[in-house]
Amino acid sequence: MVTIVSSKVFMMMHIPWYGHPENPKRIAMVVNAVEKVGYDVQWEKYVQGQDEGLKIAEKMHVKGYIDYLKRMKNKAPCELDPDTYFVWDTLDLALFALKLSYEASLCARRSNDIYLVLLRPPGHHAGRAGKALGAPTQGFCILNNAAAATIGFLEQGYRRIVVLDVDIHCGNGTEEIFYGRNDVLNIDIHRDPADFYPFICFPEQIGKSRGEGYVVNLLLPPRAGDDIFLKLIEVVETIVTSYSPEALVVSLGLDGYLDDGLSDARLTGASYYTVGSLIKKLGLPTVILLEGGYSRGLECGVNAFLDGISGRRIRFKRKTATPVLLLKEYLGIARDIIRMIGWLEK
Ligand SMILES: [Zn+2]
Repeated sequence: MVTIVSSKVFMMMHIPWYGHPENPKRIAMVVNAVEKVGYDVQWEKYVQGQDEGLKIAEKMHVKGYIDYLKRMKNKAPCELDPDTYFVWDTLDLALFALKLSYEASLCARRSNDIYLVLLRPPGHHAGRAGKALGAPTQGFCILNNAAAATIGFLEQGYRRIVVLDVDIHCGNGTEEIFYGRNDVLNIDIHRDPADFYPFICFPEQIGKSRGEGYVVNLLLPPRAGDDIFLKLIEVVETIVTSYSPEALVVSLGLDGYLDDGLSDARLTGASYYTVGSLIKKLGLPTVILLEGGYSRGLECGVNAFLDGISGRRIRFKRKTATPVLLLKEYLGIARDIIRMIGWLEK
């Protein structure tokens, strides 16, 4: 059973003063898309005063960073970096999004309790102190919503959590926050960062100390289609099953959808449907949080994803990569696995 949660304030606050892909229209678009195919949205009321949100933020961000955000409120409108705008109500909305993400993990108690929170600003690039693992910017993110849901599960006593990030950009913030832990397995499928934002999260980055081996970065080559993505989902299923997780957090980025705008990926409904089907098959208490997605992905991608979760039988025509690209990818997967093994054997 999937419960879709959102709030009207995501369409009314944190408005850029210049043309920016991360804007309130995104939520209107994704909500329209899900309502059009018959899903109900549970609307959450915005609560003024974000003390609760601040307490949650302190669980995954350093105090200095939270204080910095509070100070920036007085300087707004401004930019935290060339990607990330900040207006007078940005922090309030980010704290509210964080609170909804955390509370969703408290509600998802039984197997198959699935909560999809349609929120903004996205969070997966936000690390402990903002920019994470050496990324050049925070990539539109303020506070880490996926980390909030994960911590919510951990606090309830769940011992093995999988964070699956399918945004086309790596969730470097989430990886950084749990980099030294073995009770959170972070699996991230993203476009090869050699020449793509955030330019980090390569296969050999596998976590550290106790967390070594609990970060898995799976790369999509340039212009990857559904066939390559689906191969990686098979790898994900194998890894997740062997870990036997007790709960699941999904960073749902829809920006890998064909012509969504910010990447060269050519994913279509087949990919997102399969992610949804995998979530249904795993049958875990699950919180899904919206990350990226800027145009077509928010309409077509989300509905294919929900079809997968609902178990509707749909056959998609897959967008395939060229044979040369496909061969390159298979060689690439083999190379990445060899690189990971090399690191594990050190
Ligand atoms: Zn993204």
